[in-house]
Amino acid sequence: MRKRVVAGNWKMNNNLEETGALLSGLKTKLEERQGTEIIVAPTFINLPYALEALKDSGIKVASQNMHQAENGAFTGEISANMLTSVGVRTVILGHSERRAYFGEKDEVLAEKVTTALKHKMQVIFCFGEELEERKSNNHFQVVEEQLKAALFHLDKGSWQNIILAYEPVWAIGTGETASPEQAQEMHAFIRNVIKEKFGTEVSDEISILYGGSVKPANAAEIFAKPDVDGGLIGGASLDVDSFAAIANAF
Ligand code: PEP
Repeated sequence: MRKRVVAGNWKMNNNLEETGALLSGLKTKLEERQGTEIIVAPTFINLPYALEALKDSGIKVASQNMHQAENGAFTGEISANMLTSVGVRTVILGHSERRAYFGEKDEVLAEKVTTALKHKMQVIFCFGEELEERKSNNHFQVVEEQLKAALFHLDKGSWQNIILAYEPVWAIGTGETASPEQAQEMHAFIRNVIKEKFGTEVSDEISILYGGSVKPANAAEIFAKPDVDGGLIGGASLDVDSFAAIANAF
């Protein structure tokens, strides 16, 4: 059975005190949860603190990004080795904000994925079309190209450490969610793209999350779709009750 995952991307939110409050709330509300992998991604500086606070809770901690190089003259960047050395084993790569505001292209993302896997990290790989691309009916092609460019160099075995997160850019932080039918249609397409290249052992097992304005009011309907295996949550992950309600929406 495919792994169900609910991950919270906190983005550039929450200082140390706010991080502590949110984590202790999550621990209380989510500790007993079975069957769904819960992941939170605080900002880099609070990762060791989050790991300590969530020790023994079953809730995983992810970073929101990392650099593709092993080390070197890359001022302001963080390497895979730095992350794993403090105990972070999951990384979000390819988020649309990284692509749009920091110029991350598919080629660089392919390198980041390779580096993360080399360090035995789990990768939550984000991709999705922009509004214009959907309006012009190019969304399937765009998504297929993003997958091919960043992930088709992998061998079959690597896929056990990949989680896909389909995030239509027009739905991120806008309050506009893809309908459950739109999400299902795209997730089934993505699974088929993976199947054609890597076979059913990979495509049947890969968890595909939906991201884009998921909230307690719409999570259950979206997660009920057969090819939706969970969610990557932005805004709503900053509120304990909302994130817990989403995690419990399966
Ligand atoms: C995201 O940034 O990954 C995201 C899905 O954000 P939001 O839930 O706020 O749309």
